[in-house]
Amino acid sequence: CSATMAAEEKQMQRFDVEKAASLMKELRNNYNSRKTKSYEWRMSQIQSIANMIEEKEEEIIEAIHKDLSKPPFETFISEISMTKSSCKLALKELKYWTKPEKAKTSLTTYPSSAEIISEPLGVVLVISTWNYPFLLSLDPVIGAIAAGNAVVLKPSEIAPATSSLLAKLLEDYVDNSAVRVVEGAVAETSALLEQKWDKIFYTGSPRVGRIVMAAAAKHLTPVILELGGKSPAVVDSTINLQVTTRRIIAGKWMANNGQACIGVDYIITTKDFAPKLIDSLRNELKEFFGKNPMESKDLSRIVNPFHFARLASLLDEDKVSDKIVYGGQRDEKQLKIAPTILLDVPDDSTIMKEEIFGPLLPIVTVEKIEDSFDVIKSKPKPLAAYFFSDDEQMKKEFVQNISAGGIVFNDTIVHTTVSSLPFGGVGESGMGSYHGKFSFDAFSHKKAVLYRSFNGDSTTRYPPYTAEKQKL
Ligand code: NAD
Repeated sequence: CSATMAAEEKQMQRFDVEKAASLMKELRNNYNSRKTKSYEWRMSQIQSIANMIEEKEEEIIEAIHKDLSKPPFETFISEISMTKSSCKLALKELKYWTKPEKAKTSLTTYPSSAEIISEPLGVVLVISTWNYPFLLSLDPVIGAIAAGNAVVLKPSEIAPATSSLLAKLLEDYVDNSAVRVVEGAVAETSALLEQKWDKIFYTGSPRVGRIVMAAAAKHLTPVILELGGKSPAVVDSTINLQVTTRRIIAGKWMANNGQACIGVDYIITTKDFAPKLIDSLRNELKEFFGKNPMESKDLSRIVNPFHFARLASLLDEDKVSDKIVYGGQRDEKQLKIAPTILLDVPDDSTIMKEEIFGPLLPIVTVEKIEDSFDVIKSKPKPLAAYFFSDDEQMKKEFVQNISAGGIVFNDTIVHTTVSSLPFGGVGESGMGSYHGKFSFDAFSHKKAVLYRSFNGDSTTRYPPYTAEKQKL
């Protein structure tokens, strides 16, 4: 009987379409009261988020560790300090970002003046993912608040400890009449997606990206889709081998053990150079994670049994399993997979067709480094493309030939820390961008305003359109 009552209670609490509609109504009313538009409100909310991070750092690190056993230092660098920086930048720059921008006018409108005003969009939805569950939830929320919107955040159910911590902390720290967290999975997200939002910001897989975009289309709601893909790292022979190797490791295994959207998905190098690179990777991996990486505390685990099985099946594919040149150990109980390098897996294997999103790193070899361009172009446009080289001409050609969300030379993943660069995908890796001022712009409408006076009213524009007028 008590089990039935508990089930009924759960059903009553369930976040369904009705609850989503009522939440939307409430937030819409509060948005319409104009409170979120005020500069003071925006600043106070962002300051509160900054305080929250400062005061609850330990709890945040602990929750992320529970979800992913992410090494605390990695969490500090890639989630805590990055989110703090976003707050700091917004607090410093918001005054300038919100300033109307003067625009040139045309001869036709003489005399006149013009400006572009950044106005908030309204009530926006942020759907987040699990791999950087704190940063990727709050970073867009900070942008949405900076731009003066009311916002609902739906964190990922796959990182449940961080999701519930975000719900609790945001309830305590920010104005809940305009900033809300809805926890849940597909059912809850679907209920939210039925509503008419003024923008949807989605981070996750291209598969769900399509679902989000289709739901948004019903209401003509604009979307930003931060998706993933197969981000390559091309390595030629003109490099500093040790620095290159370490930076590839940083962009693969130090990035949530490969579970990162801009993590290195595969390497392309020349046939001649591959043995040297593999040796160097082996040495540095041993140095960083010890002889038995399965025991290392400096590697995240695989997030859940589903993703463990998915990664295991990539390795177990017939034409792939004998291509392992380093690693390959796994422990299903602990959801751990060791850093694993594979050489020359066939191009039609699943590991070369799908985004890996885990600690497996295939190396593709080509005759000449220029051939790497064709390999990259044979796949959907990636979120990031890395090129390790000291050859200036080659770098130019790489930029001209390769379309990707972002390109980094001689390093991996660090472009996310440069707030003056937009972060986002292209093609299959997503649409729209954010970070720094781009986050503010992502959640603003650029309103064109033209000021005319009653002077200079030419009769030329008015009928009758005489032959004389048409000569002008
Ligand atoms: P996912 O698409 O499965 O889940 C992301 C969000 O979508 C979650 O909040 C989830 O609740 C929701 N969701 C899942 N199924 C849904 C459905 N049927 N209907 C409505 N909502 C649904 O993605 P994931 O597995 O969490 O993330 C992995 C992908 O995300 C990878 O492709 C990775 O590259 C990408 N990613 C991109 C970025 C970026 O910034 N571009 C960052 C991290 C991850």
